[in-house]
Amino acid sequence: MRIIAYSVSSDELPFFEKYAHELGVAYKVTSKPLNEETMHLAKGCQGVSDFMHGDYTNKLLQQLQDYGIKYLSLRSVGYDGINLDLFKQHHIKLANVPQYSPNAIAEFTIALTLMLLRNLQVILPRVKTQDYARNNMKGRELADLTVGVVGTGHIGARAAKLFAGFGAKVVAYDHQQSGDLTYVDSLEDLYRQADVVSLHVPLTDDNHYMINTQTISQMKDSALLINTARGGLVDSKALLRALTSKKLAGAGLDVYEFFASEIFGEGKENEVIDDPTFLELSSLPNVIITPHIAYNTVTAIANMVKISTQNLLDFDKTGQSTNQVA
Ligand code: NAD
Repeated sequence: MRIIAYSVSSDELPFFEKYAHELGVAYKVTSKPLNEETMHLAKGCQGVSDFMHGDYTNKLLQQLQDYGIKYLSLRSVGYDGINLDLFKQHHIKLANVPQYSPNAIAEFTIALTLMLLRNLQVILPRVKTQDYARNNMKGRELADLTVGVVGTGHIGARAAKLFAGFGAKVVAYDHQQSGDLTYVDSLEDLYRQADVVSLHVPLTDDNHYMINTQTISQMKDSALLINTARGGLVDSKALLRALTSKKLAGAGLDVYEFFASEIFGEGKENEVIDDPTFLELSSLPNVIITPHIAYNTVTAIANMVKISTQNLLDFDKTGQSTNQVA
């Protein structure tokens, strides 16, 4: 089977080489995104692999169909915003990778939390300049704290387990309760109890800006906010006001409301970001911002490439895939 893979990063390349050999497929690989300008590269292939979904227009899908493309597999989870009917109209089957490594994001959540609790974001740059001061660097121990986990799906449930492993008391909130976690009845309950609030819900119409001035007012002044889920969950201006007025103690953000991978990502090293709220947030000593990188581990990337390729192979052999979404 011949597969074209779009938006391939240098981190992914070795895995395409590995799985070409192991799974017996021929990949054509490009770092370019799939769009109307690059769709001609798919000619001669039977399947398409794409990183995060792009703008799958009628014209693009029509052209892919004309090239004989029958399957497209995302190397990521999210397919919200894709017009699934359009895929059906063009007889192109679509699959995703529903889980590549929840543990990767959960561990990153713990890393952000521990860094903030021990002031490492301040200490590490100081040491680089030969400043070894220890004053005002008193940390807090997770084992003394309550962590509020919002959303206990694949990632949140794993994060809750890891936090509990450090001895933290974990309280959780989710529409659907499962497993052996301690759930609270409302988000307000969680905000009032938690020393660390960690977000693990998808962004939906209902929860845009769930973290805002009013909900922050329900949190402890000493609380940390960790967001490795989606930027739009947090009103960044409200967060900035809370952090600068000492209404919150710190924030660890792997995602930001106005940018996704078009700003954060490979080849973006020299991008100028002129969003004043973002710049002010990132300059605060009690804030850690990372470029949507929580997923980025060897295990996760290997799974993204392998599972998305397997989806295409399954479509080709059997006409279906367990990860089919359209
Ligand atoms: P999941 O679907 O397994 O779990 C989501 C959970 O949230 C479910 O249990 C669901 O019931 C719950 N939920 C949904 N809306 C809710 C609401 N309004 N209030 C309370 N609970 C709600 O998803 P997941 O795989 O655990 O992913 C969680 C988040 O992590 C997603 O936003 C995803 O986009 C994000 N993510 C981030 C990265 C990264 O690199 N930073 C990587 C992968 C996923």
